[in-house]
Amino acid sequence: MKRIIYFIILSNFLMGCKIHTRVGSVKNNVCKTLQKKTVIYAVFVDSDETHPWTDYDINSTLDSIQTAIKWMENQARANGVPLQIDLYNGLNVKKGKVIPFKQELKFKTLSGTLFHYMDIRKGIKLLDKWSDKISKDVTQSIPGDTSKMILTANKSNNRERLIAKLRNKYKTDNIALLFFINNYFENEISVALHTSSDDKTEYAIVSEKNPAVITHEFLHLFGAWDLYMSPFDKNIFAKNRKRKAMKKYPDEIMAFTHKRIDSLNLSPLTKYLIGWHNKLEKGAGNMFFRRRWKLLEY
Ligand SMILES: [Zn+2]
Repeated sequence: MKRIIYFIILSNFLMGCKIHTRVGSVKNNVCKTLQKKTVIYAVFVDSDETHPWTDYDINSTLDSIQTAIKWMENQARANGVPLQIDLYNGLNVKKGKVIPFKQELKFKTLSGTLFHYMDIRKGIKLLDKWSDKISKDVTQSIPGDTSKMILTANKSNNRERLIAKLRNKYKTDNIALLFFINNYFENEISVALHTSSDDKTEYAIVSEKNPAVITHEFLHLFGAWDLYMSPFDKNIFAKNRKRKAMKKYPDEIMAFTHKRIDSLNLSPLTKYLIGWHNKLEKGAGNMFFRRRWKLLEY
């Protein structure tokens, strides 16, 4: 069976202050709380080193995203959370309105690029550049008045411009930007980046058609954490925390993505992280938080 690593970069995910502890990924960045009108904006990307996107591949992936959306909306309904997710995808006007955009990854593959240097931050920078170049093409392909765009002064990049334009076009702040690469038959990772960042807009790169993986990455953008043990949990304490989480939440989508999506659900910890619960349920997440920490209530 192919082994796939799903992970997320959780830099500075806890920000302590004297009285309350704020979780860095909660209510942060572009995708704050998963509720109300939300847009998944899918961008299909071809490269010389990945499988070319055929119409069949694109359509089956769009079907998988729809399955993911249905699952999310059902979960929201069961939790009394208003949520409507709409799906749109980029059209490459330059290439005659075909769907895929084209951009080469610096070191051929997603994992090859991310892990090329010992210092993972360098790999992330390369992916940021990659996503930025595609975002420029995508932004240019969307007709409309750009004068109303809300830009962050001085430091806006193309990804920010794209998100500003999409926010304007679809009249919602919740824009989940997902880049899809066609690596279905290969060992490849999927990743969500900058989910706890204060100054870089978050996005995900998905290399799978499995609805559970798509949902997993989508939830990262709204603040959810990885709850499975990954090779990135280097020390024994991190491994133990994940082991406890997996045992406590055996059907949690942030811990298990290889199961069928219908058999998965969301733990109280994830519900807190994505903003469905305004406070953390007693006992939930106690493998991650020290008892003396008082988590912020929203
Ligand atoms: Zn993950």
